[in-house]
Amino acid sequence: MGMFDSLKRGLARSREAFAEVFYMGGEVDEDFWEDLEDRLVMGDMGAEVAMQVTDDLREQAAREGLRSARQLRDALAKRLAAEFAKAECDPFEDVPSCVLFVGINGAGKTTTVGKLAGVAKAEGKSCLIGGADTFRAAAIEQLEVWGQRSGVEVVTRERGADPASVCYDVLDRAEKDGTQLVLIDTAGRLHTSPELMRELEKVVRVTRKRASIPVRVVLVIDATTGQNGLNQAKEFNSALDLDGLIVTKLDGTAKGGIAVAISHDLNLPIYRIGVGEGIDDLQTFDAMDFARALVG
Ligand code: GDP
Repeated sequence: MGMFDSLKRGLARSREAFAEVFYMGGEVDEDFWEDLEDRLVMGDMGAEVAMQVTDDLREQAAREGLRSARQLRDALAKRLAAEFAKAECDPFEDVPSCVLFVGINGAGKTTTVGKLAGVAKAEGKSCLIGGADTFRAAAIEQLEVWGQRSGVEVVTRERGADPASVCYDVLDRAEKDGTQLVLIDTAGRLHTSPELMRELEKVVRVTRKRASIPVRVVLVIDATTGQNGLNQAKEFNSALDLDGLIVTKLDGTAKGGIAVAISHDLNLPIYRIGVGEGIDDLQTFDAMDFARALVG
């Protein structure tokens, strides 16, 4: 299955929801534009983007005489793609570099690190994983499994050790070995908390200071958390000064727009999107493909 196919499969529910708007009455009237704007908001696109996009599309439809559902859906996908294009970015090509993954428990950090390690290995890049989630024993084990699966070594310490010391260790090793890509998994909590932020602030500070290679701090966020995800993202960003986003679990949600809403609100690029649990289900963010999968 191609990349676009699995993205389309993942976002099928979102597309179905838009299909309803476009085929409901067939008339391009006041109700239609209201339904469209509502649907964009319900898809977690954010009120600001939803309104702007609807207004622009409405003008374009009047100007160019667009009437059919097909024409309007095409125009919507193109308009959204223009919006999403600001979020396109692929930092994993830019090596050597170190990427720190932060986010709450269950967001998909460990899975994402594992998938990226597998991809790096397959592309012939040298890679090291840092297991800085020393809070939960299970987290280290889970990371070891991904390390074995992808053939990438995991540098970690025992449960309860200072996470920042793991960052030191893995950067030391990477410097010695000339490693191209260092992926560091960090601990989450069930929710954002002052304790988590303090811990992560230290991890980020130490890593940025110690590293002789560029460091990026990436928030991994679960798309199904909806608007709450936006609040989380704001908290992480104000504490850690994020560089980018990875949005997971876009499969099976009708609300894929949250990816774009967060990116828009915090002015952050989307490094990858997760559309399933398999290794191929982590994709680069392509604005046009994403727009088509979402509404087209
Ligand atoms: P962490 O606590 O942030 O490290 O989260 P995990 O990596 O342990 O992931 C939590 C769960 O989400 C696991 O069961 C993963 O398989 C699942 N998961 C991660 N990414 C995706 C995705 O893109 N789609 C789906 N459906 N599940 C995912």
